[in-house]
Amino acid sequence: MTYSPATADQLLAINVNAGIEQLARSERFAAAEPDMVEAIVEGVGQFAAGEWAPLNRIGDLEGAKLENGVVRLPEGFAAAYEHYVEQGWNSIASPVDFGGQGLPFTLACNVLENLGTANMAFNLLPMLSVGAIEALEHHGSEALQAKYLPLLVSGEWSGTMNLTEPQAGSDLGALRTSATPITEGEHAGKYCIKGQKIYITWGDHELAKNIIHLVLARLPDAPEGSRGISLFVVPKYHVNADGTPGARNDLRCVSLEHKLGINASPTCVMSYGDNDECIGELVGAENRGLMAMFTMMNNARINVGTQGVQIAERATQQAQDYAADRIQSARAGSPDRTPVAILEHPDVRRMLLRMKALTEAVRALLYYTAGQVDRGTLGQTDAAARAEILVPLLKAWGTDVGVEAASLGIQIHGGMGFIEETGAAQHWRDARIAPIYEGTNGIQAADLVTRKLGLDDGQALIGLLEEIARDSAAEPALFALAGECAAVARWMREEASIDDRLAGSVPFCTMMAVAVAGWQLTRQVAAVEAGAAPALAATKPGTVRFFLDRIVPEASGLKSGAIAGAESLYAVSTEALLG
Ligand SMILES: Cc1cc2nc3c(=O)[nH]c(=O)nc-3n(C[C@H](O)[C@H](O)[C@H](O)COP(=O)(O)OP(=O)(O)OC[C@H]3O[C@@H](n4cnc5c(N)ncnc54)[C@H](O)[C@@H]3O)c2cc1C
Repeated sequence: MTYSPATADQLLAINVNAGIEQLARSERFAAAEPDMVEAIVEGVGQFAAGEWAPLNRIGDLEGAKLENGVVRLPEGFAAAYEHYVEQGWNSIASPVDFGGQGLPFTLACNVLENLGTANMAFNLLPMLSVGAIEALEHHGSEALQAKYLPLLVSGEWSGTMNLTEPQAGSDLGALRTSATPITEGEHAGKYCIKGQKIYITWGDHELAKNIIHLVLARLPDAPEGSRGISLFVVPKYHVNADGTPGARNDLRCVSLEHKLGINASPTCVMSYGDNDECIGELVGAENRGLMAMFTMMNNARINVGTQGVQIAERATQQAQDYAADRIQSARAGSPDRTPVAILEHPDVRRMLLRMKALTEAVRALLYYTAGQVDRGTLGQTDAAARAEILVPLLKAWGTDVGVEAASLGIQIHGGMGFIEETGAAQHWRDARIAPIYEGTNGIQAADLVTRKLGLDDGQALIGLLEEIARDSAAEPALFALAGECAAVARWMREEASIDDRLAGSVPFCTMMAVAVAGWQLTRQVAAVEAGAAPALAATKPGTVRFFLDRIVPEASGLKSGAIAGAESLYAVSTEALLG
């Protein structure tokens, strides 16, 4: 269960795929000089491995517990969070005006990658806070920003996102939590919030001094559906005039969900306004809450996609150790009949290389995406549109890869993988949530074939594929995949019905993700061959070759499913299907 940060591969991806040097040439990101970048990547890697990784196992075994209304974490979590805040890791990309360091989003992704590889469940605490910070940064009034942002940015307070209700999951338009304007008394101008939210990540705990909930709710006269949802900021403790936490607000954690994994992350059922005294303030305009949420959802989805890299890296490292230690059978075809470590057998080798290639591919996709987001921040509209396309690819395929790698990790352990003591199973149990939350992977794929496919009249997506094809003339499989993606995209736009598109959305999303990731890997190889990252010279070309020769053709094979259309899905009637 030891873990060492993938510093060299991260730096390569940050340099080559995010293009950090180019970003640092802008005034906005001038501080992201090479020394600073290295210091952050190495520093957070060491911190994560030293302080957060040792808590991964105890977090899984003991988990978060609700005791007499208080959510408690296993011993060690409070101190590790305190050290995280003290060392300033929470504030990397946050606005300078509120105490942040104003560095590129790319580097904030790296902080989360390292912390999440060390301890995925714990890392959800800062991840959710980032969402709250962005919501307030982009949509909060100056007064709200001054009140909440400094301590959210430092990490002394944490944030949550409250969307889901029992009847409103993927369909947020169905939510019922209410917000009633207060016209008199000390809270006049604010709102009385009432309702129940489920599955709220880190909804309650004692690690931060206050918890700032971002809550979606409906005003009394709001239109039906998603056009009638507003966003509110609802603190656990009211904030005194001097900025310190005051009396408790009328909200509580009713229970914690019992989950398959991420046991150290308290997943709370939250009740707001049991006594009709839960006070919230409006963020942004009335009935525009969903829009406000969506502007920060891109980054949140990237952060969930990152969880795929995190768990794949951790599972790969553990499988490597086990495969080097476990002795079984002599190598087939070898005259020496002495049993060897299982990594000498071709099939174990295949699994290990697959895990490694997939992990590095998602990492390349992650930092390419983050770099495009940063260019969008600098006002480059093409990059912003490209990021829009990349986000569902990273979220959906990245998290699928996390599950696949964790599953392969179990397989490499054989029977010991199924036994909890080795910890291989924890990675798979933890990984399994990532394709579900922050918009299921099915919803990501739907977003790709509806909104994203049509961006810039289809040119945003086709332009990306043309670039991949142009750069991969020497890689026939990748070149072919880019062409097949373009053909599917054209079919979807020109011939397919909306049902046809949705029926092929998931295979198409995987094809696109593999094409972009393969392209970004070829850029890494070129850099390594030109002398970048000597530490990776022995592994990178072979790992990328594995990806290009085996995983890229698999993605091409998905084309038939992508263009099969919806008719066959309904050929079996609903009654017969339920049978
Ligand atoms: C551990 C955990 C932590 C979470 N943290 C948070 C949090 O912090 N804040 C928060 O607000 N929520 C949170 N969630 C909720 C999470 O975002 C939802 O579970 C998720 O959005 C899916 O909603 P649902 O569970 O209601 O599934 P459903 O919406 O019921 O979906 C069920 C299945 O149907 C599919 N489906 C649904 N609609 C469509 C459609 N139109 N087209 C095609 N397929 C469709 C889905 O893809 C899925 O496969 C969390 C959930 C879990 C389990």
